[in-house]
Amino acid sequence: MSTKPSHNLVWDRSTECVPLEERRALQLKKLQDLVERVSVQSPFYRKQFQKKGVKPENIKTLDDLRRLPFTVKDDLRDNYPFELFSTPIQDVVRIHCSSGTTGKPAVSGYTARDMEMWSEIMARSLTAAGATYRDVVHNSYGYGLFTGGLGIDMGARKIGAATVPMSGGINNRQIMLMEDFGATVLTCTPSYALVLAETAAQMGVHVQSMIKLKVGIFGAEPWTEEMRAEIEAKLRLEAYDIFGMGEVIGPGVSMECAYHNGLHIQDDHFLPEIINPDTGESLPPGEQGELVITTLTKEAMPLIRYRTRDITRLAADLCPCGRTSARHFKLAGRTDDMLIIKGVNVFPSQIEGVLLRHGELAPQYVLVVDRVNNLDRLEIQVEAREEFYDLGEEAMEQFTHKLYHEMQQLLYISSKITIVPQRTIQRSEGKAKRVIDKRKELTSGALI
Ligand code: ADP
Ligand code: ZN
Repeated sequence: MSTKPSHNLVWDRSTECVPLEERRALQLKKLQDLVERVSVQSPFYRKQFQKKGVKPENIKTLDDLRRLPFTVKDDLRDNYPFELFSTPIQDVVRIHCSSGTTGKPAVSGYTARDMEMWSEIMARSLTAAGATYRDVVHNSYGYGLFTGGLGIDMGARKIGAATVPMSGGINNRQIMLMEDFGATVLTCTPSYALVLAETAAQMGVHVQSMIKLKVGIFGAEPWTEEMRAEIEAKLRLEAYDIFGMGEVIGPGVSMECAYHNGLHIQDDHFLPEIINPDTGESLPPGEQGELVITTLTKEAMPLIRYRTRDITRLAADLCPCGRTSARHFKLAGRTDDMLIIKGVNVFPSQIEGVLLRHGELAPQYVLVVDRVNNLDRLEIQVEAREEFYDLGEEAMEQFTHKLYHEMQQLLYISSKITIVPQRTIQRSEGKAKRVIDKRKELTSGALI
């Protein structure tokens, strides 16, 4: 956590720093309007409300949000493609959908007003990172159905920055253009930021003198504080965390400010709650659970109490930056990313935290989970830095032993540690694939 912020730019103080009471009053008004609106316009929510016996007039305070039914990811799939839309298709100006590697993707629609709201919250997000019209934004998030590329693009355009619409891939060219165009802001996944740092080193491009980056806006996948330190040191920039998801809007649901003490939720549009994922019960600020979001203003596809499956906790206090929005802390992971190994819950981010504390290791790893003789087995494959790997087998063995014990203490289970040479673990242009769960392959194989 930084106590001395590098800047304190705010895009729109009148909305972002509005007194808390006023913010809450506006939220309640918008929530009442939303419930009224979907009761009329959305056959899906009309049915859901009937089942729960809720009527618009039941929403008298913000706490009454809890009376409303949850929406889950399967509701999106079951109502594929447009059944969750609350507006007719002629009012929709954009359609995005998730990568959906299995089955039908989750679709999200936007009206012109939704697009305007998205641009606005992206302008807030870029400004929170200190970006202005003077900046050159090198945008390596993918353009296309994935919301990352276009989301950043709209915000950068709104603040008047020069945007380079790169998408991921062709790494050498990314470095060349960053250098030639004088990029000052880099936007991509944290894992791809590391790939770019590695590429610059391979090309002999000295980051400190040849690349002008000052800010990085990274998100779309979980990353630890240790990963932040690694990226900041390698790319010589200040790294900011941005969070979002296609179903809700895309990137910009929440974003860090220069205090780096949690991500500000744009809660004049996205009302957050934290719930116990097993019971659905609401949890107070400070307690970790599943993030649930209600889109207060979205027109084309409003979502009521959408269960994100992301695990985090809310801050109880206000941020010194002056914004009065709620904040959530860095995500611990997703309920569906959580591995259950020998009955123990393990988040990949816990393992990442330990690995990256060791200077001997490079920040590239993959977790392979398998079942052998009916017993779960976790293998942690991690790259050693070249200088360390060159020390030879004995040094490697001693280190592996030490790491094994550290992991055992952290996870309460034993794992196999495999140290591999640098640049052997597969890199990704977008979200990194950190887990290979062979147990799932076994089950699906058995079904065929
Ligand atoms: P999907 O990955 O489900 O196809 P998205 O591309 O919209 O859909 O990704 C949204 C998900 O990405 C979030 O629910 C969250 O799990 C993850 N994510 C996005 N931003 C962050 C972030 N800053 N930190 C951690 N996880 C993130
Ligand atoms: Zn702040």
